[in-house]
Amino acid sequence: MSETRKLYVKSYGCQMNVYDSHRMADTMAREGYAETAVPEDADLIVLNTCHIREKAAEKVYSELGRIRILKQQAEADGRNMLVAVAGCVAQAEGEEIRRRAPLVDLVIGPQSIHRLPALVARARQGETAVETEFPAEDKFDHLAPPSQTATRTRGVSAFVTVQEGCDKFCTFCVVPYTRGVEVSRPVEKIGEEVARLAEGGVRDVTLIGQNVNAYHGADSAGRERSLADLLAHLSKIDGVARLRYTTSHPRDMGDDLIAAHRDLPKVMPYLHLPVQSGSDRILAAMNRQHGRQEYLSIVARVRAARPDIAMSSDFIVGFPGETEADFDETLDLVERVQFATAYSFKYSTRPGTPSADMEQVPEDVKSERLARLQLLIESKWRKFNEDYVGDCFDVLFEKPGRYSGQITGRSPYLHQVQVEAPVEMIGTIARVNILQSSRNSLFGELAAPTRVSTMPAALAVEGA
Ligand code: SAM
Ligand code: SF4
Repeated sequence: MSETRKLYVKSYGCQMNVYDSHRMADTMAREGYAETAVPEDADLIVLNTCHIREKAAEKVYSELGRIRILKQQAEADGRNMLVAVAGCVAQAEGEEIRRRAPLVDLVIGPQSIHRLPALVARARQGETAVETEFPAEDKFDHLAPPSQTATRTRGVSAFVTVQEGCDKFCTFCVVPYTRGVEVSRPVEKIGEEVARLAEGGVRDVTLIGQNVNAYHGADSAGRERSLADLLAHLSKIDGVARLRYTTSHPRDMGDDLIAAHRDLPKVMPYLHLPVQSGSDRILAAMNRQHGRQEYLSIVARVRAARPDIAMSSDFIVGFPGETEADFDETLDLVERVQFATAYSFKYSTRPGTPSADMEQVPEDVKSERLARLQLLIESKWRKFNEDYVGDCFDVLFEKPGRYSGQITGRSPYLHQVQVEAPVEMIGTIARVNILQSSRNSLFGELAAPTRVSTMPAALAVEGA
C-alpha cells in the first residue's frame, strides 16, 4: 500500500480492551495506517467500547455525537472518515448502534476484530457492516504482532491476553454474553508473544483474561496446562523480570497457583481477587459460587505462601436485595482482609442479566453506601502507602516523572514510586529507599550503590 492513512483508536473499560486496541492498531499498521492521537486527522476512528455498566455504554453515544461533527468537517474537506464501533457495546447492541448513530460505518464484536482490515476495505467502497458473530477461526492467529518500534513506544510494562470469555454467569454481569465462553490460548503462542515483547524492551508482563486463573491452555504436546504452569513457562524467558495476572475468580484460585507466588521469584506479590460482597446471602444471589468464609480462607492460604502479598478486590454495592446488614458484612470483610486498594461500583442494571428482574435498591441508598465503602477503602490505600515508608525495594522505572529530574516506576506491589534519577534508567530495575508517601505515590531515593537488579522485592530485601 502506497498511501499512509491515519487511525485513531479510543479504548474504554478494561485492560483486555486496551490489549485489543493495540492489536487492532498493529493489524491496521500492516495495511498502511499510522496511529494518531488527534481524532480530527483520522481516516479511521475506532471506539473500542465497554458494556459492563450503563454509564460506560452511554459514554460511547456521547462520543459518537462529537465524532459526527468531525466526520461532517472531514467530508466538507473532501475526506472520507470511517467510524467503527468495536468491543462489548458492539457485541451487545449490534444493529441498534447504527440505528441510534447512522454515522457509524462498522460495528465489530470483540471476537471479530481480526476482520477489521477486510471490513474497512469494504466500507471504503461504501458498504456498512455489523459483525458480531463468534467466528470459528482464532482471532489471535490473524492479528498482527506489534512492531518493535510500537512495543518500545508502549513502554516497559505490557498486557498479554491469555484467556477470554466466561462461563460463570454471575447474575449481574454481561461478560458471558458479550465475550462468549471461556477460551484459553496455547502456551507456546503466549510464550512467543512474551519473548517478542521482551526483545522489544518489556520487563513487566501482566497476563490478562476475564477469568485469568481459569486458564487451561494446551502445551506443545496437547496437554492442558494451568495458569501456574504458564507462569512457570514464562519465568524462563530472559529479559522478563516481572509477571502478574488479572482478573482472577476465587473459585479458580488453585493450590498450584498459590504455590507459584511462593516458588516463582518473577511472580510479583500482588493479587487482584474480586469478591463483590461480604455477605453470604448476596454472594449466593450473585451466583458467585463461593461464600465469605471460603474467600477469607483463600486469602489466608495466599498470605501463608507469600506473607508480603498485597491484595486488591472489586465490590458491587446495592445489588438487588442488599440490606444494611449485608452491607455491614462487606465493610467488615474489608477490615478483615486489609486490602491494599479496591475498585467499588454501584450496582448497574444490565438488561438481559438475571439480576435485572430482581427487586432493586433505591439509587440514593446505593450512593450513600458507595461513599461509605470508598471512604474505608481510601483509608486502607493510605495505610498501604504509609506502611512502606522506611522500606527498601526494587523499582522498575517506566517513564519520566512529573517534575524535571524525576523518573517514575512501579514497586513489586504496584505502588507508583517517584525518584530523582537519570532518564537513562527507564527500563531498568534498581533498589530504592522509600522516604515519603502521598495519596497516589511513594517518594524515594536510589539506594547506593546503584545497581540494576531483576531480583524480586521480598528476596532482595531479605538479602540486603
Ligand atoms: N471476572 C471478574 C470477577 O469474577 O470478578 C470480573 C470482571 S468484570 C469485567 C469487572 C468488574 O466489574 C466486576 O468485578 C464487578 O465488580 C464489576 N461489574 C460487573 N458487572 C457489574 C454491574 N452490573 N454493576 C456494577 N458493577 C459491575
Ligand atoms: Fe462476570 Fe467475572 Fe462473574 Fe464472569 S466471573 S460473570 S466475568 S463477574
